[in-house]
Amino acid sequence: MKELAPGDASLIEEFTNAIRRSSGLDMPVDNPNLLEGLEMGFKMLPLLGLFRKYTKTSVHDFAGGFSDPFLREAFVGSFGLPRLLPKTLPGLADFHMIGQWTTVGAGLPPAAKDGRDVVKAICRRDRKRFVTFTP
Ligand SMILES: Cc1cc2nc3c(=O)[nH]c(=O)nc-3n(C[C@H](O)[C@H](O)[C@H](O)COP(=O)(O)OP(=O)(O)OC[C@H]3O[C@@H](n4cnc5c(N)ncnc54)[C@H](O)[C@@H]3O)c2cc1C
Repeated sequence: MKELAPGDASLIEEFTNAIRRSSGLDMPVDNPNLLEGLEMGFKMLPLLGLFRKYTKTSVHDFAGGFSDPFLREAFVGSFGLPRLLPKTLPGLADFHMIGQWTTVGAGLPPAAKDGRDVVKAICRRDRKRFVTFTP
């Protein structure tokens, strides 16, 4: 990966180190009993910071940190997730699609920002001033 995208070496190392650290954890598949649960809790203690960080980050968000476009797409695809949809359709002028499938991140704020970014790009293309108002 680092040979393909040397500019993303530090993020690649961070991710592969996280996998290395957590891959030795033997998690019970069935419901553990109290003793097994406690044992598991102790084993997980050193990894709590790691888990907290990665459970707050979506795959698309993490992939968005890569500067290499191929790596961004391949990373998302490696989790079996769909890549981001394009915002335009070839042959359909002035069509713009925005929302959670066309931008990195999930929820209403990224979808709204996606719309804002498209309007900004249209303004730039039409040489119009882009002005926003905060309610
Ligand atoms: C139960 C629930 C709770 C959530 N709570 C939060 C929250 O608290 N905060 C937060 O940030 N996010 C929340 N989300 C996520 C958030 O709702 C979505 O990320 C957001 O709505 C995505 O916006 P969107 O415009 O991409 O898609 P949508 O809001 O799904 O809009 C797509 C629209 O396209 C329409 N459509 C689909 N197909 C066609 C078609 N063929 N022709 C015409 N129209 C079509 C649909 O009817 C829909 O109105 C929640 C989601 C769910 C399901």
